[in-house]
This record gives sequence, structure tokens and C-alpha cells, in this order.
Amino acid sequence: MAAVRFQQVCKTYPPRRGGEPVSVLRQLDLAVDDGEFLVLVGPSGCGKSTLLRLLAGLEQPSSGEIYVAERPVSRLRPAQRDVAMVFQSYALYPHLTVAGNLGFGLRRSRPRTPLQQLQDSLHQASRSLPPPLRITSQRERRIEARIAEVATMLELEPLLDRLPKELSGGQKQRVALGRAIARQPSVFLMDEPLSNLDAKLRTGTRTQIVELQRRLGTTTLYVTHDQVEAMTMGHRIAVLSGGVLQQLGTPMQLYQWPANLFVAQFIGSPAMNLLPVEVSGPGQLQLGQRRFAVEGPLAEALAGRTGQRLTAGLRPEHLRLAPATNRNLNATVSHCELLGNEQLLTCKLEDGGHLLQVRVAPDQPLVAGATVFLEVEASGWRLFDAAGDALPLPRPTPTEPMLPRF
Ligand code: ADP
Ligand code: MG
Repeated sequence: MAAVRFQQVCKTYPPRRGGEPVSVLRQLDLAVDDGEFLVLVGPSGCGKSTLLRLLAGLEQPSSGEIYVAERPVSRLRPAQRDVAMVFQSYALYPHLTVAGNLGFGLRRSRPRTPLQQLQDSLHQASRSLPPPLRITSQRERRIEARIAEVATMLELEPLLDRLPKELSGGQKQRVALGRAIARQPSVFLMDEPLSNLDAKLRTGTRTQIVELQRRLGTTTLYVTHDQVEAMTMGHRIAVLSGGVLQQLGTPMQLYQWPANLFVAQFIGSPAMNLLPVEVSGPGQLQLGQRRFAVEGPLAEALAGRTGQRLTAGLRPEHLRLAPATNRNLNATVSHCELLGNEQLLTCKLEDGGHLLQVRVAPDQPLVAGATVFLEVEASGWRLFDAAGDALPLPRPTPTEPMLPRF
């Protein structure tokens, strides 16, 4: 097990076919704690896979250094780094059985003398003979025991003699996971490992990966574009965009107190609603013709900002259907999605025409065209300055100020 640290890492790919060089990571600093499950998210092409490949040794950084257990690894070959990667495409060896795939990394891990090689081959060749005729190799015995252990862990025993082409997507995914686990590396790297599975299987495997990681305590970097995976799997989430780390924190920190507009829009589905507002006094915001009170730590952050124009963010659950009073926002329902357990409304504000998404109970009889009144939860406001950065809070956020224990 080991902590991982990226220190001032830059990665620029050379130009292709006369184009410009692609600068993917810019002076990235990122520290992952020993035993931590870190989820990495960001828009497509932002460099998530590049970051994992740099750590795995499949790419070289243009500058900067990467440390695994405080040991600089940029000059080491992939096999020397003690990390194991699981790819979206599984990347199983098609000519090897499940058992062969699980044992591949173990058999490759240490150089063997020609005599040991012969003994290992004889062990494998004589496996089906009666016991007195078998030739055994201690090394092969250990590997077989480890394969059996991993197969039990991932319920792969009945599949050990099959080839990858005889497996379903979910089974291939478990073999890929097993191959990484078998080697007992210090760090797991997983690049969207569930994105080729159907929704039901994804949920089951998600739970299985989290339980395995907590049990083994292996430091894990996990890339996903799935909101549920991002929110539920990791101890912390790192949001990457434009080659820069936008925010690093627990899922609830990012959801409740996004550091900037990018994170506010990226984390959470549906995304945070954004509205132009003006600070109209201490703890007060003006939206169109209406004034709203702000409660919570942000109220103090408004001191001295009267007259400033800001962007306000409101999560869909911080808006409620309310009686028709002149304190509430008058809007027209433009779209209605009934999801069974809840209803997602898209509403157009009468004043200003801004679109808002609102979560309401499923039993509210609403159709497109209906007029509604919306009440804002006073502690739900989030505020961003002209540069898109969240207003600094005068005191620590109320949610999980400390790192979780691993
Ligand atoms: P992500 O995994 O976040 O979608 P990637 O790390 O795969 O993003 O890629 C980041 C950027 O680097 C993309 O613009 C991609 O086109 C570019 N890129 C990735 N690999 C190479 C390569 N080998 N050569 C040139 N450009 C590359
Ligand atoms: Mg990728």
C-alpha cells in the first residue's frame, strides 16, 4: 500500500500531422492518501486517462515527478512501479483461459532461471496426471493458490477454464479486476471499468469494487463519467478540467460547496441552476424584482458587497412548489419528467425568462404549461463572482470539514 503524489506534472503530446502540440496536464499537484479511493472526473478529453497512464508508466511526463510511497517513479518501467490498471475494454489476453489471465502478472513478476522455467512447464503439463506422476514447482503452487483465492473472491471458480470469448461482458470485467487484484499491487488504477456494462450489472459491480477496495485497503484512482459512481464510490473526488485540478474534496463538499461554476455545473444531475443576482444589502439578494434572504455561512460573506452582480446557484432540491404569494417566484412549467420516485420540472421564470430545474414529489399533478410558484430555501444559495469562483466562506463549511478515515 502506498500514497501517490503528482508534483508539478505537465504532459504535452507532440503535434500530430502538422497540428499544434496538445497540452493535457498543466503543473498538476495532486496527493492521494495511502488507502484512499480517489474518484477522478472531468469532461471527455480533459486528461483523466493520461493521468492514469502517466502513473502506470504507459506515458512519460513532460516535466514534474510522480511519487508512489514517496519513491519517484517516472524513470521506472511499468512493471517496476507496483501499480495495476483495469481498462474499460478489459484488455484480457484472448489466447489465455481465465486462470491464465489471472495468473499472467504473477508468472511475469520475477525472472526465472531456465531450470525453473522447465520445472514450471512440467508442473503445468503434468497437472492432469495421477498425483505420483506429477512434477511440482513451488512457485507454480503458490501462483495456483493465489489464482484460486482471487477466483473465490470474485466468484470466478466455474469460469477458470474458459477463454475470454466465452465470457459475458460482466464476467470479463471481473476477470480484469481479478488480474489486477492477484498481483497485490500498491495502487489500483481503474479507467471507466464499468462503462461497458448494462445498468443493472453496473450497480452490482460498483458495490463489489467498493467493498473490495475497503477490504484490501489498496490506494485506488478511479476514473468515471458516471454521476452516481462519482458520488458514491470514493473517499474524495478530484475534478479535472482544462489541464487543471478544479477541486478536490469529499463528494458532499463538492456537491454542497463547489469551488467554482465549473464544479457546480459538473457535479450533480440535473446540474445546479444558475441565475444572475445582485447583492441588495446585508444577507440579501435581488433577483429581478424580488428580494431574497440568504441564510447560513454565505450571509456573512455578502458583507461589504452591496451592489455587486454575482451568479447565484441553486440545486433543484432547494426550490419548492409554494402558495401563490408575491414572495415566491412565478413560473411556467415547460417540461415535466416523472421518474417514479420524483418529478423533475423545467420551469421558466415569469420575471427574466430564466430556466430552472426543480425536484418535486411524484404525486403533484403537473403538466407543461401549468403556472407554479417557487419558494427558495434560504440556506440553498451558492454565489460565484465574475471570474466564476465561489465567494470565500468566512468559516469552514458545515459539511465534513475533516478527511474521512480509510
Ligand atoms: P480523457 O481520458 O479525460 O477523456 P485523455 O487523457 O484520453 O482524456 O486525452 C486527453 C487529450 O490528450 C485529448 O485531447 C486527446 O486527444 C489527447 N491525447 C491522448 N493521447 C494522445 C496521444 N497518444 N497523442 C496525442 N494526443 C493524445
Ligand atoms: Mg479516458
